[in-house]
Amino acid sequence: MVHYISAMQDRLLQLLPEAKTNVPLAPYTTFHIGGPARYFFIARQKEDLVHAVEAAKKLHIPLFILGGGSNVLVSDKGFNGLVVKIEIQGIDWKQQKDENVRVCVCAGEQWDHVVALSIEKNLFGVENLSGIPGTMGAAPVQNIGAYGAELKDTLDEVEVFNKKTTQFEKLSADACKFHYRESIFKKKEGESLIISEVSLLLKTNGQFRVQYKDIDRYLSDHQIKNLSLSMLRNIILEIRQRKFPDLREVGTAGSFFKNPILRKKEFQKLIAKFPEMPFYELDQDRVKVPVAWILDRICRLKGKTKGSVGAYERQPLVLINTGNATANEVKEFAYEIIRNVKEKTGISIESEVQLVGKF
Ligand SMILES: Cc1cc2nc3c(=O)[nH]c(=O)nc-3n(C[C@H](O)[C@H](O)[C@H](O)COP(=O)(O)OP(=O)(O)OC[C@H]3O[C@@H](n4cnc5c(N)ncnc54)[C@H](O)[C@@H]3O)c2cc1C
Repeated sequence: MVHYISAMQDRLLQLLPEAKTNVPLAPYTTFHIGGPARYFFIARQKEDLVHAVEAAKKLHIPLFILGGGSNVLVSDKGFNGLVVKIEIQGIDWKQQKDENVRVCVCAGEQWDHVVALSIEKNLFGVENLSGIPGTMGAAPVQNIGAYGAELKDTLDEVEVFNKKTTQFEKLSADACKFHYRESIFKKKEGESLIISEVSLLLKTNGQFRVQYKDIDRYLSDHQIKNLSLSMLRNIILEIRQRKFPDLREVGTAGSFFKNPILRKKEFQKLIAKFPEMPFYELDQDRVKVPVAWILDRICRLKGKTKGSVGAYERQPLVLINTGNATANEVKEFAYEIIRNVKEKTGISIESEVQLVGKF
């Protein structure tokens, strides 16, 4: 076995000389949790990505693509394969004939840096998504969303490297099959696609989207009438600061669960039991309910802890690692919440955070 591992290691290092072995993944995640990657490689150019995929294919080892590690819970056993961290940089702004701007962003750029630059250039479209951690390449994976906006509202095209065809390909926004926290990249049909670049269409003359309850309340409380893009960004950053812990101090992957989407029949049963529950009608037959409200008002989880894992005191949807929590402890804590919600409401909630490696 020892022989086999070192032979494999030698072959991988021949194919990818800059790869490292046995690299702890905890420092590469915002939860600060996770065992080692058997192999770890940073892709700084698109060609690096090609070489990494070819190497993993040749040696038949599993591959995991890592961005900023802000939406993953990595197993304590780590990942028995090649982890490729995407750090491909580059942003290209293209003025369109209709005065809008197309911005092509490489996958390793920080999402919030792109938002800040867009606002500096007075371009509308991504301002409500201010302050979301992570990379551009991961943003389409769960169609990041916040404060009444989603990535899909501005996304024009995605460039992917297809592990099956070993070619770069383009996907239109429609082909990405975006829904609430969903896309083709989370499904079996998209599992061979690695995002290398994303194009967004931003507007020079857009409209502010301020209907979302928290923004609307902030504007009226502060009697703000003349809004600018940078003011809206700062308001959103301030609201977010109140809801999320400081990543420099506390480990977290943000909201751990997705808001459940219920059929009308199921929803009617729930609202009859909890008439004060807020909700959002998606269409004639589907209603989205805020899981944060259920965790807070029905399950009373705010501030609840078990060992080093907890439901954040200001927002119980945010699970936190207060010290040396293991991935297993976080998973068990999350499963307990899922069971608790099922018992009290009858509805099933799902994790938004991706579990990586064997649990
Ligand atoms: C404090 C906090 C607040 C947050 N707030 C929000 C929020 O308001 N709205 C929201 O939607 N999310 C939010 N998130 C979740 C997270 O920031 C987003 O999901 C983000 O897009 C993850 O980016 P990442 O680069 O860290 O991805 P990672 O965590 O590294 O990866 C996430 C998934 O994407 C895959 N992936 C990464 N890069 C690529 C690529 N180039 N090609 C293909 N697959 C890839 C990974 O394999 C993994 O499955 C929050 C997280 C935190 C910690």
